Amino acid sequence: MVEAYSIPVTKIERSRLPGVKLENIPFGRTFTDHMLEADYENGEWKNVEIKPYQPLVISPSLAALHYGQAIFEGIKAYKNSAGESFIFRPYDNYKRFNLSAARMEMPAVPEDIFMEGMRQLVALDSNWIPALHDHSLYIRPFMFSSDEMIGVRPSENYKFLIILAPTGPYYSAPMRIYVEEKYTRAAPGGVGQAKAAGNYGSSMYVTAQAKKQGYDQVLWTDVYEHKYVQEIGTMNVFFVIGDTAVTPDLSSGTILAGVTRDSVMTILEEMGLKVEEKPVSVDMLMEAYKAGTLREVFGTGTAATVSLIRELKYKDFVMTFDTAKWTVTPEIKNRLDAIREGHAADKFGWMFKV
Ligand code: PMP
Repeated sequence: MVEAYSIPVTKIERSRLPGVKLENIPFGRTFTDHMLEADYENGEWKNVEIKPYQPLVISPSLAALHYGQAIFEGIKAYKNSAGESFIFRPYDNYKRFNLSAARMEMPAVPEDIFMEGMRQLVALDSNWIPALHDHSLYIRPFMFSSDEMIGVRPSENYKFLIILAPTGPYYSAPMRIYVEEKYTRAAPGGVGQAKAAGNYGSSMYVTAQAKKQGYDQVLWTDVYEHKYVQEIGTMNVFFVIGDTAVTPDLSSGTILAGVTRDSVMTILEEMGLKVEEKPVSVDMLMEAYKAGTLREVFGTGTAATVSLIRELKYKDFVMTFDTAKWTVTPEIKNRLDAIREGHAADKFGWMFKV
């Protein structure tokens, strides 16, 4: 087969893989042998190459370090029992990446560099994809402004890279969540819907405050009244109320359009639940809780897939859940894992063959 797009490859002399234990490998600490790198200069992308994973040499005046023009994505690749490699819905992340780029006044990355570059990189390092349940290869595409100049203006130069990190199961005990009523992650007109690095930087102080009080994460709320819920950390949020699954709608532009969120909505419908995307107020949740109809609460994201939430605290009102009795959330995770790990048919066309 002729490659759609041929990228120069410099291979590592000796793979580091024999020295790595993939089973239960912690998230985001070990990287594979190779990475993809490309430069944007004089209005065009150039120097696209795959080469050994290595440090970057940067100037202290690098624009991204000062003004935060930086975006990223998170995607996962899996290996099925026949040893074939697949990436979960990468085209959705590709589209989201370029939406983030546009909002941050950065150049779009062409499809052949992002998609075909990712495919060739993952194919080259496919031995690093753990063929184990609940394991995967985390793919991190990212771009930053690389002008070497101090001064607030969009850069003329950018760097795009893809790095890969094998990852084991994301063991997370059911979480205690603090419904935030003072700080804000995103406001209409802001960059909440973009995967911009600064969104994460600005969340850390607030999350640290909640952690000091014994909570795992905050559930962000709207900027005006702190009454409408948005999302949790790096996850979208779902509430099962009666036979309906409710998740905040995306129209305010404050919420990242999660690929897992979209997949979970499809699976919930397949399971026979009604799915509603609409503004979700804390008042509505408290009413449902008091009436006994708020059954399950969970977060969705690439890293964790689905995370159970055992407590929600809003001001003095605490909602607790006995997650051991839940049926919907574990079923969603099972169905999604089965598709991703190749045990169930890919009926929605989510698995991209490497
Ligand atoms: N919200 C935020 C703020 C996130 O960073 C993420 C992780 N990308 C998500 C939601 C979940 O998105 P996805 O399902 O595409 O990983």
